[in-house]
Amino acid sequence: MATTHIIGAGLAGLEAACVLVEHGRHVIIHEAARAAGGRCRSYFDQELNCRLDNGNHLLLSGNNAAMSFLKRVGAYDTLTGPTDPIFPFIDLVNLERWVLRMNHGRLPWWIFVPAMRVPHTRLRDYLALLKLRRAQTDDLVESLVGAIGPLYRNLLEPLAIAGLNTPAREASAAPLRQVIAETIERGGAASIPCWPREGLSESFIDPALRWLTARPTEFRSNSRVAALPRDDLQIRGIDLTDSHIDLAPEDNIILATPAPVAANLVPGVEVPDAFQAILNVHYKYHLAKGDAGFWGLIGGTAEWVFAKGDILSVTISAANDRIDVPADLLAAQVWQDLVRAFGVPAAMPAYRVIKEKRATFAATPAQLARRPGAVTKWRNLFLAGDYTNTGLPATIEGAIRSGKAAALASLHANAG
Ligand SMILES: Cc1cc2nc3c(=O)[nH]c(=O)nc-3n(C[C@H](O)[C@H](O)[C@H](O)COP(=O)(O)OP(=O)(O)OC[C@H]3O[C@@H](n4cnc5c(N)ncnc54)[C@H](O)[C@@H]3O)c2cc1C
Repeated sequence: MATTHIIGAGLAGLEAACVLVEHGRHVIIHEAARAAGGRCRSYFDQELNCRLDNGNHLLLSGNNAAMSFLKRVGAYDTLTGPTDPIFPFIDLVNLERWVLRMNHGRLPWWIFVPAMRVPHTRLRDYLALLKLRRAQTDDLVESLVGAIGPLYRNLLEPLAIAGLNTPAREASAAPLRQVIAETIERGGAASIPCWPREGLSESFIDPALRWLTARPTEFRSNSRVAALPRDDLQIRGIDLTDSHIDLAPEDNIILATPAPVAANLVPGVEVPDAFQAILNVHYKYHLAKGDAGFWGLIGGTAEWVFAKGDILSVTISAANDRIDVPADLLAAQVWQDLVRAFGVPAAMPAYRVIKEKRATFAATPAQLARRPGAVTKWRNLFLAGDYTNTGLPATIEGAIRSGKAAALASLHANAG
């Protein structure tokens, strides 16, 4: 039976596997790590004595591929979040608090109601959103929308940094345009924030693996691919660290590793080569959930705060300039922000700092130009991963779509 070998069990690889299995293919997934999930995973943390996510992951209800992924594997109801499209913010400079409240429908009447929009903004400020509609790859977020005024500081810049994981002065506006087209422009019903109630692995990874392994799929953990021997036309086999697999003529490979690994395994494939870090600080502290269970903080070190039971988690994106700050110093700085925003006690509780150095590729125009498609010059090799050319930033939604695109391209190649 023809087999598709999927290298990497992150979201891209898992989605590719699901699509192929739905089309009757036999699939073997090779994952280098002990557990699946890649950059979207949970683990047991000894220090805090509980399970943690490697980083807080926020989804929006309009992330259709992510929602379909969860529905397929029976995990849609594992998400949590507010029932309405609300985004609470706190300004750390003057302690002003507000809640951005979108209406559910497509017509954005919330921008006409001062109490629902960003404070101190005028209706005409929202024309900046229209400018984003024309965004091309070379347009930078900051120069396109104009880096002035409360709408930029209190909404557009935080949105761009969180969505693109790139400073707004360097980031291309094109992927942001795509995110906005698929969420905010479709109305509040497509913009409801949500995240896994228990953990990333419990929502995305474990249910997908259960679904797959109940079907003709083999999942091989601790199975690192070391090389892909090939000629000019096709990949001939797979070298694992301790064994070798010969490929039959109908077999395919979907390479669903991060970009740097893809570049090592298949030199000559152009992929993004500049990255941005994301830092997460998890504190053992219970904070009441408030309106939504999360907050955007403006004007400090902490950017997004999630109250998850006994854990209070903080995310800082586009953090290359902070990656070398020692963990204890970073945790103390961020805790100061939380003291100011929420009045938590000055004594810092137990914490864990997780630094994801290459969290995503930098969404600059130059890096976007390096994103490859799913199809390669080798007839049996296809690429998947959040770095491939999905039109979206490197996100859960982008990773899942890339997996589907690679799977469909491989089926098409076999049919042709
Ligand atoms: C801290 C952090 C916060 C984030 N926040 C958000 C968010 O709020 N919202 C959002 O939508 N997205 C967010 N993201 C982005 C999201 O997590 C990624 O886009 C997505 O998980 C990427 O999936 P992937 O399958 O493309 O790659 P990966 O998850 O990196 O999967 C690749 C897999 O390949 C495996 N592998 C590598 N080398 C080999 C080899 N030689 N052989 C076999 N296997 C190999 C790896 O172990 C890994 O499991 C965040 C990412 C991080 C790091």
